[in-house]
Amino acid sequence: MTEPYYKPLPRPNSEDAGFWEAMKRHEPVCQRCSQCGTWLWHPLVQCPQCLSFDLGYEKISGLGKVFSYSIVLYNPSPVWSDAVPYVVATVTMEEGIRMKLHLVNCDLKDVKVDMPVKMTFKDVTPEWTLPQFEPCG
Ligand SMILES: [Zn+2]
Repeated sequence: MTEPYYKPLPRPNSEDAGFWEAMKRHEPVCQRCSQCGTWLWHPLVQCPQCLSFDLGYEKISGLGKVFSYSIVLYNPSPVWSDAVPYVVATVTMEEGIRMKLHLVNCDLKDVKVDMPVKMTFKDVTPEWTLPQFEPCG
């Protein structure tokens, strides 16, 4: 059973509903243009490369390396104040896209640029699963 979750939850729209459905299945995915193959992050309605509207979701490895990160020591929002300190990492995925998520299961002193990470999944409510990164390899 999950603990009560009071932090903000996604509000899916037509562009990212497929992403959140995949998160629920614990499956790393990213939006990709069916015409030119460009990976898109964040989800869009139209490919910025070829202007196609033919976009879908494809499985990705879920593996990447830390490009940059922030250690959050203070958050004025009451719903986040109990979470500090936490790490938000921008990760270059194997597919070349950069995703920004919480980095968990890692001591603050151990976070480093180029550190290998993998996408993991946290079921925060019965309806919602949020992606995170954690160290690997
Ligand atoms: Zn395209």
